[in-house]
Amino acid sequence: MEDALEPEKKRTRGLGTTTKIATSRPRAPVLTTVPPTQGQTAAPKVPKKTGPRCSTAVATVLKNQKPGPAVPAQKPGTAAAPPMVGGKKPGKRPAWDLKGQLCDLNAELKCCRERTQMLAQENQQLRDQLREAQQQATALGAERRVLEEELVRVRTQAEQGQQELGNLSARVLELEERLGTQEGLVQELQKEQLGLQEERRGLAARLEEQERRLQGSEAALLGSQAEVASLQQKTAAQEALLAERDERLHGLEMERRRLHNQLQELKGNIRVFCRVRPVLPGESTPPPGFLLFPPGPGGPSDPPTRLSLSRSDERRGTLSGAPAPTTRHDFSFDRVFPPGSGQDEVFEEISMLVQSALDGYPVCIFAYGQTGSGKTFTMEGGPGGDTQMEGLIPRALRHLFSVAQELSGQGWTYSFVASYVEIYNETVRDLLATGTRKGQAGECEIRRAGPGSEELTVTNARYVPVSCEKEVEALLHLAHQNRAVARTAQNERSSRSHSVFQLQISGEHTGRGLQCGAPLSLVDLAGSERLDPGLALGPGERERLRETQAINSSLSTLGLVIMALSNKESHVPYRNSKLTYLLQNSLGGSAKMLMFVNISPLEENVSESLNSLRFASKVNQCVIGTAQANRK
Ligand code: ADP
Ligand code: MG
Repeated sequence: MEDALEPEKKRTRGLGTTTKIATSRPRAPVLTTVPPTQGQTAAPKVPKKTGPRCSTAVATVLKNQKPGPAVPAQKPGTAAAPPMVGGKKPGKRPAWDLKGQLCDLNAELKCCRERTQMLAQENQQLRDQLREAQQQATALGAERRVLEEELVRVRTQAEQGQQELGNLSARVLELEERLGTQEGLVQELQKEQLGLQEERRGLAARLEEQERRLQGSEAALLGSQAEVASLQQKTAAQEALLAERDERLHGLEMERRRLHNQLQELKGNIRVFCRVRPVLPGESTPPPGFLLFPPGPGGPSDPPTRLSLSRSDERRGTLSGAPAPTTRHDFSFDRVFPPGSGQDEVFEEISMLVQSALDGYPVCIFAYGQTGSGKTFTMEGGPGGDTQMEGLIPRALRHLFSVAQELSGQGWTYSFVASYVEIYNETVRDLLATGTRKGQAGECEIRRAGPGSEELTVTNARYVPVSCEKEVEALLHLAHQNRAVARTAQNERSSRSHSVFQLQISGEHTGRGLQCGAPLSLVDLAGSERLDPGLALGPGERERLRETQAINSSLSTLGLVIMALSNKESHVPYRNSKLTYLLQNSLGGSAKMLMFVNISPLEENVSESLNSLRFASKVNQCVIGTAQANRK
């Protein structure tokens, strides 16, 4: 019974939900236990083997029955006590009383039978009760199983709940931790907020200050804007003025070029300057009156243009015995430079011509004269690095670079390309050759730059772009070295060859789409002296004669070319010499030519001086037509 009640007890003590489930089930009949009454103590004892449940069942049965007469249980085999007579316990029968004994035995048998019957009944009742109890036990077992299942389910639910509780606790812990962190963060943020508030107050103060200043600046800006507007107006006006001036300046520049050219033309497109070198140390001074420089029409202040050379006719003097008569030879040139004239003075006269080259007119300057008359001195300069002694080539280039620089302010861009060749015995050699080509002759040829091109170029010769004096100096030095190499091979070759320095000038005015270009040629001609026809012709002299013939031929070709140009002949014999062929673009037509005739001051050179002066005079008589600038 206790086992069956146990779940019931637990249910009532346990969770309400399970109680509800339990109450919904049919309850097993509750058997009440009845404590044995006083009278029952006399009831026959049930063997202990039946157990507590059996004895309870017996007791239950007995409760519903009238208590029977207490019959003491008697073990079989034991002698029955003599029956009690008259309610009194009968005494022991004498051995002889067999009838009495039989009677007693019958009575006892009858009693036993009654008792057996009663026990059988009781047994039956007990069996019934047992069955009933078994049924109840089965029902209770089923209920127990149900309850056990329910218990398992409840336990599972409890475990789940426990697990859930564990999870929730962990979550709570986690949330608490996060809360802690958040709280820390909140505190930090609060601190930061305080800082920011402080900063904000500072910024607000600064903003206020800035606003005040801004207002001040705005006021100043308004003033400045007004000023800028007025300045812009002024600038625009000035720009217009500037453009106008630029236009005028350009017009003036063009006018200057035109007038400059007109002036040069008036001076003559072929000009001849005579330069007499000083007597050098160790040379015999000529007799007084040998060379005279009569003043110009304007008096002594005028630059000299005339020269008189006196030649004494010694043959006539010797024959008559009287002092040898002298013959005066007067020459007039565009300009005469007496021995004291400096390089700067000479250059001043020709700087105008160099300017013409920049303006787009081909310019050619020659130095003509016998060997030792000062041609190289005039063209390149004296020995040593003395700037006072610098010749026309370095001075002309320096002048060109500086004028080009000035013209760049008016929008002109100039470039210069230099070449320097030597013509010896009708062969052309590059004086700017470097490396293995140094000193080699005969490789260079004069060719047209391209089919149909007017421009001439020397094959295998170096054309070097130059933009400063230093570069020009380096080129002149290189040419000098190259000449020195050749000189060791052939005696005084430099005097026996023409040196042609050419500078191709190209100018461009991109703003106005103008271009101009012209060559400037500076030529140091070979010595013009003739061979003494009376000299015996040895092998060296023969070679010399060949050289001289070549020189004379090219110099006379130059004279013929100038004459042909002057006479406007249809055929100009440029091709008759390499020199004139190379210089054809710098002679004729639009070109300007200047010839220096260099004279020795010595009396012993009078014959050659006269030859030179006569040649120069012929050239001076030539007039080459109006020059045209090479504008593209
Ligand atoms: P060329 O080239 O005609 O043969 P150079 O120019 O070599 O003659 O001159 C011969 C010498 O005379 C050189 O020593 C040179 O320095 C000197 N000489 C020439 N002209 C002058 C001058 N105007 N002033 C001073 N020395 C001169
Ligand atoms: Mg010379």
